[in-house]
Amino acid sequence: MSLGKKLLLINAAALTCPGTINLAAETEESGNFYTYTTPENIIFLIGDGMGIEYVSAYRYLQDDARTAIVDDTAFDPYLTGMQSTHADDPEANVTDSAAAATAMAAGVKTYNSSIAVDNDRSAVQTVLEAAKAQGKATGLVVTSEVTHATPAAFAAHVADRQNMRAIADDYYDDRIDGAHKIDVLFGGGRDLLIRSDRNLVEEFQTDGYSYVDSRVELRQNRDSRVVGLFADRGLPYSIDRTNDVPSLAEMTESAIERLSRDDDGFFLLVEGSQIDWAGHDNDIVAAMSEMADFEQAFQTAIDFAQEDGDTLVIATADHSVGGLSVGADGYYDWDGDSVRTARRTPDFIAREILTGADVQETLDAYIGIELRSEEIAAVRKAARTEGFSATDDAIEAIFDARSHTGWTTDGHTGEDVPVYAAGPGRTQFAGHIDNTDIAKKLFRLLGADADITDE
Ligand SMILES: [Zn+2]
Repeated sequence: MSLGKKLLLINAAALTCPGTINLAAETEESGNFYTYTTPENIIFLIGDGMGIEYVSAYRYLQDDARTAIVDDTAFDPYLTGMQSTHADDPEANVTDSAAAATAMAAGVKTYNSSIAVDNDRSAVQTVLEAAKAQGKATGLVVTSEVTHATPAAFAAHVADRQNMRAIADDYYDDRIDGAHKIDVLFGGGRDLLIRSDRNLVEEFQTDGYSYVDSRVELRQNRDSRVVGLFADRGLPYSIDRTNDVPSLAEMTESAIERLSRDDDGFFLLVEGSQIDWAGHDNDIVAAMSEMADFEQAFQTAIDFAQEDGDTLVIATADHSVGGLSVGADGYYDWDGDSVRTARRTPDFIAREILTGADVQETLDAYIGIELRSEEIAAVRKAARTEGFSATDDAIEAIFDARSHTGWTTDGHTGEDVPVYAAGPGRTQFAGHIDNTDIAKKLFRLLGADADITDE
């Protein structure tokens, strides 16, 4: 253990406030703001679609209304800056997840849909690959398919994000110095790895990996290298999950426990994948349930970093989505009560109704506020004549109107997104940076000689 690390631990032990780790790191780095301290471990968390308005809405939502102050989220004490997210795409300056993740993973601006390839379709090195080349253990933990755009851009090289089979193949076929690139792979996407043309789970097992596909198996398994797939495609939204499906925090904790056995340290990417999906659907209930799931994963990473003393935790978003507004229609009052009482997402409730459940009973079972007759009538009418999305929209409209939540688009939006960091190196992420700067800084913090070439 280095002297710096010892001092950090002593500092950490002497302080008990939640900001301990960043205060300690600040002390170590003060006076040499631009010096790069190299953390042993990096945990990089991406809230997909988590624009600043999602963090703000979540702060109102989880506030204890009995006190005069609005309580911090787990993220707030660690805010270091903001990043710009524009893509380098002739048709779009608003990024998609693929171009944004490529920028953050490889330091290269590229076109929407690209998975760690630049504008001329050549592969670009990622921070996960640089970490693996140094002998570190690596992991990808997500709630979407493990082959979805964000995780893919850290460990695959494919021209089009839609080609999730090619991404899955890359996870197995691409090697670094002959070794597999990913040690721990947790999320959804069984259909994409276990296929009629190729069974990648069996191939990984042949090479010494374990396979788990339920929460119980995840807990029982102790191996360092493991593939865990908990749904055919994306996991259910946090609030809709059954007991078999692990939370993002549980997967994160399990990954950290395995990866931290490596003497060379580790690089772990964690994605709260479905904040974005909820935003595309303009569903405030799903969005807030995903924010809670992501916040707990972030806290899990912070708890580990605080104890370890040599781990950089960085959390950010790839872009925002939906044009979410906290307050709408002229109301100066965002009221989270209806959202707080929801026990399932509108998607889930709509599905129950459309498979024959009684409208009023179902709404009453899953929404804790007393509904007006016109709200129930609107859902009933949509369910009778207009199908799933209209029924889903009618339920979402209840929450939007009650909470004064606004939406302007079903797509992504181009404003800057927040950056949070804790631990050694955190000050590198201060102020306004670009999404490509994240990769550039991570390469330097890793001490990796990254060759970022992009014409
Ligand atoms: Zn996204």
